[in-house]
Amino acid sequence: MSIGRKVLDLLKDEINEADYNRYIKQVSYCTEHSKSDLARFNAPNLLIANWVKTKYSNKIAHLFELKTGVRPQIEIGLPQKRNKLKASKKPEDIATHNKPVTHSLLNPSYTFENFVEGSSNNFAYVAAENVAKAPGAIYNPLFIYGGVGLGKTHLLQAIGNYNQNLGKSVIYTTVEQFINDFTRHIRNGTMDRFREKYRLCDLLLIDDIQFLSGKTQTQEEFFHTFNELKDANKQIILTADRKPKEIAGIEDRLISRFEWGLLADIQAPELETKIAIIKKKCEINHVLLNNEVIEYIATVIDSNAREIEGILNKLHGFSRMMNKDLTLEFTKDVLKDHIKEKRDNITVEDIIKVVSKELNIKPSEIRSKSRTKNIVYARRVAIFLTRTLTQNTMPELAKYYGMKDHTSVSHTMKAIEKLLKEDANFKLKIDELTNKITSNE
Ligand code: ADP
Ligand code: MG
Repeated sequence: MSIGRKVLDLLKDEINEADYNRYIKQVSYCTEHSKSDLARFNAPNLLIANWVKTKYSNKIAHLFELKTGVRPQIEIGLPQKRNKLKASKKPEDIATHNKPVTHSLLNPSYTFENFVEGSSNNFAYVAAENVAKAPGAIYNPLFIYGGVGLGKTHLLQAIGNYNQNLGKSVIYTTVEQFINDFTRHIRNGTMDRFREKYRLCDLLLIDDIQFLSGKTQTQEEFFHTFNELKDANKQIILTADRKPKEIAGIEDRLISRFEWGLLADIQAPELETKIAIIKKKCEINHVLLNNEVIEYIATVIDSNAREIEGILNKLHGFSRMMNKDLTLEFTKDVLKDHIKEKRDNITVEDIIKVVSKELNIKPSEIRSKSRTKNIVYARRVAIFLTRTLTQNTMPELAKYYGMKDHTSVSHTMKAIEKLLKEDANFKLKIDELTNKITSNE
């Protein structure tokens, strides 16, 4: 059974039966046009194609990632004729066909040009660029770490794409694939081939190395792979969700090797970087959005940039299906569920925690009687957010925040609402705080 068929079967258990029978059943996986980073499905008509894409492409991509370690781009369309597809291919697509097979796992859009630099990722970006230009010569290994969706895989593959285009032999692998490959070669008695593959490349890129935790046999093998590559001045680049020292279940001798070169962390992007990333994704995916809509999306998503493509897909699919332009109103409407899901279970404490952290004051100061300007400001913002994001009544808020009575709360609400209308920057700040609170970061 094809991997695509398996994924559709898995989807059956995750979605409601009516949806599955009405739509998913009519969709088939197209092995011929799929690659490791692209899963292509055919649908009988565009309506079904758009519907499945909008509603389930994220889920489908996720299931692929669970099964294969790679999150592919999901394409759903009408069945294509072979010749037609070939004719529409861009020259560079054809050119890559003649290259060695090892490249197949790199996503060609993960390049340095497509990566948006900001203060949150600048250090890792520069380190990756330096390593890409002089592999094996400066920092070895390069170890990139940070939270989910912050661009680690993108940077790792950008190094890979850059060097592959120069004709270097690049291996990109997730830990899961590395382990699978290892056990398969052991089973078949072909460890020579395994060693040849991993020890003779110019660059070895391993994604999410934290998953090596507890895999003692693979660690042993990887230890020798690492030493050989390092001795031969071949570049090793690793990513993880945390620093080497914080990864449990990996031998000390490996952890210390991970620290031999350069450790580069990626932080959550600030608002401007998020806006720039959305603009970049729009450009790459040929989606036209006005600035108002882009800023809105930036405040709705949390730091995880993975959400962006899903949201763009969703917006695009809906606007085509409904034949409507992507106005701010329409965007808000489409993303309503997305936001609503996040808004359940918000407490006053969550709000105070985020507001005090973002505005640099102590949580206790918000509820104090202090008249210091920035504390009063933070308190008013917190009151406004509590009123809009929770079910608390004005008298309850008055009591909680130590105001005289509900009329003081009402004054605060009016003043903030006025400011929101007049001051676009203030509005952006409030939207960002709202998002931070609703995303439980
Ligand atoms: P990670 O591996 O850290 O979980 P990814 O590299 O998979 O994150 O990034 C998730 C998505 O966000 C990808 O589509 C990636 O292209 C995009 N992305 C993240 N950071 C940036 C950035 N700074 N510039 C452009 N795209 C980004
Ligand atoms: Mg990743």
